Amino acid sequence: MTSLTASHAADLVAALLFILSLAGLSQHRTSRAGVVYGIAGMGLALGATVVVAAQSISAGAVALIVLAMALGAVLGLWRARRVEMTQMPELIAVLHSFVGLAAVLVGWNSYLEVESHGAAQDRIAADLLAIHHAEVFIGVFIGAVTFTGSIVAFLKLSARINSRPLMLPGKNALNVGALVAFVALTVWFTISPSLPLMITVTVLAMALGWHLVASIGGGDMPVVVSMLNSYSGWAAAAAGFLLDNNLLIVTGALVGSSGAYLSYIMCKAMNRSFLSVIAGGFGIEAPSGDVQEQGEHREVRAAEVAEMLAQARSVIIAPGYGMAVAQAQHPVAELTRQLRQRGVEVRFGVHPVAGRLPGHMNVLLAEAKVPYDIVLEMDEINDDFAGTSVVLVIGANDTVNPAATDDPASPIAGMPVLRVWEAEQVVVFKRSMASGYAGVQNPLFFRENSGMLFGDAKQSVEEILQALGDGTWPDAAPVTRQPTVPSR
Ligand code: NDP
Repeated sequence: MTSLTASHAADLVAALLFILSLAGLSQHRTSRAGVVYGIAGMGLALGATVVVAAQSISAGAVALIVLAMALGAVLGLWRARRVEMTQMPELIAVLHSFVGLAAVLVGWNSYLEVESHGAAQDRIAADLLAIHHAEVFIGVFIGAVTFTGSIVAFLKLSARINSRPLMLPGKNALNVGALVAFVALTVWFTISPSLPLMITVTVLAMALGWHLVASIGGGDMPVVVSMLNSYSGWAAAAAGFLLDNNLLIVTGALVGSSGAYLSYIMCKAMNRSFLSVIAGGFGIEAPSGDVQEQGEHREVRAAEVAEMLAQARSVIIAPGYGMAVAQAQHPVAELTRQLRQRGVEVRFGVHPVAGRLPGHMNVLLAEAKVPYDIVLEMDEINDDFAGTSVVLVIGANDTVNPAATDDPASPIAGMPVLRVWEAEQVVVFKRSMASGYAGVQNPLFFRENSGMLFGDAKQSVEEILQALGDGTWPDAAPVTRQPTVPSR
């Protein structure tokens, strides 16, 4: 078997491993295996690429590739070990920007190589040169959109810039104009390639990527992150065509299509228009920025909440980003354990975009050893709030905002939310009256059955545990109360 045939075989096995990885990552139970398949596929792909490259380049060049890979591996390991769970989406956004930048550099390199070396021209048959030019142009365009779009996503997710949508006058016309200009420039470049056109498409795409993501509001960021994931896949596939690397094409297409499908199902789950989100928030209005109080809010103390819980038949906990920031999952798990021991029915209602990445809450709760069977998804639990004694909203805000269902003018109108306000009593754990990620006021805080427990969520839960231990909790042997809501 020649080394080229061996490399094609390795590519095929690596592609299969990537498919197995995607399948594994789609479920909690198989996700670890999914990661292992992904690592094995990537290891194989990198090894095969270096072995094939070594046949045609100098030993010094191979050493440089190995050095670059070692540096990348060290940096990657260092970041992965240090990153907080809450910073994961920002890290993913940065990684997407690298893929975009790599696609831009590959496109530029391919253009300059073909322009300057006759030998490189020989590699491409004359009648295929126009196709090569189109590939270069499209690859650079997708890569540059991904690059700057991901940087804006990183800046928004890490709160370095405001998450509110940028509303330039005629923003939709700007986006459509940029796309029309790109199509026209592609035709021109295919017929007559030139350096000024390459520079123009790069600058145009970078501006478009920036504008597209800047125009999307906080509430739609989960979809943006998965959409950029998809773009980074297409950028990698474009680079695969230019590098004549089949595995990169297959892998890019897998990432591109699975990311696009994830964006689509997230849009459906959140009742957002897919087209509107990918078109840079087309038709979405910016929040007014006015987060004034909408009435009086009532403050409660930890001891009162402990009292409430001691009397409760059933409790639902709605966790959100603030629980992750406070790292409150362990005391929350302890509170759950103590309540259940005393016969109170405790369940968790997890919104699909609670936190800062899909599955964020599930991972935190699993880490704190909260049993899987009491952690329910929004659709499974939403009808049960009405029969519940107490709901503890721990660091959640947008995902429990009744304006999404009651106020058609709200920027999050139509987004499904946990209907926590239907419970007998609601306690909201947060530090202030500040808005959530989407930057909109939450009328839940001013409802009659809501109480605000201000402070860091971890500290507040610990104070409740202490109050329960101090005697608010009935000392009698565990009682078994009849839950009003059937357990699942
Ligand atoms: P939100 O961002 O709406 O609200 C979090 C709340 O937590 C804030 O109101 C904040 O209030 C409070 N908080 C922060 N730190 C603490 C702390 N230490 N102790 C107590 N409270 C704290 O979170 P949700 O989870 O409800 O909603 C997620 C939002 O993030 C949605 O808008 C979603 O679209 C967006 N998003 C989701 C992604 C995903 O994939 N899941 C990705 C990107 C964005 P205060 O400051 O007053 O304490």
